[in-house]
Amino acid sequence: MKIYNKLNGKCLCGKVAWEMTGPYEFFGMCQCSRCRKVTGTAFASNLFVRSENFFWASGEDNVNEYLMDPPNTFGNSFCKNCGSRVPRFSSGRGAMMVPIGSTMDSPEIEPTLVCLGDHTDWFTDLEKLLR
Ligand SMILES: [Zn+2]
Ligand SMILES: [Zn+2]
Repeated sequence: MKIYNKLNGKCLCGKVAWEMTGPYEFFGMCQCSRCRKVTGTAFASNLFVRSENFFWASGEDNVNEYLMDPPNTFGNSFCKNCGSRVPRFSSGRGAMMVPIGSTMDSPEIEPTLVCLGDHTDWFTDLEKLLR
C-alpha cells in the first residue's frame, strides 16, 4: 500500500491551521471568473482531499464562510483575522477543497489547468510566462 505524504497548511496569521494525508483526489488550477474573483489572480490552485483525510489543527472557529445565493454552490472560506483563503467543503466534488498555496510541501499529485476557455486576456499560457 502506498503511503502518502502528510501536508500541513496555515493561513497568513497562523490562527487557522490544518493537516491532511493522501490519496489526493484532484489538484485543479481553475481559471473561471469566480475563481479569479475569489483569489484576485489568474487562477485558483486547489487540492481536493476526502473529508476523512482532512483535519483542522487549530482555529476552525476562526473561519468565516461566504456562500453565493442558491442555486450557486460557490463560496469562499477565509480566516476572520487575516482574510487568507482556507479550506472549505466542496459539495460539487464531495471533498475538502484546500488552497494549496498555503501548504509549504508539495502534494504527490500533478496539477491540472481547468476552465481553459474562461481565462483573462493577460494570462493565457503558463509555459510562455515561465520561459
Ligand atoms: Zn489568519
Ligand atoms: Zn473556478
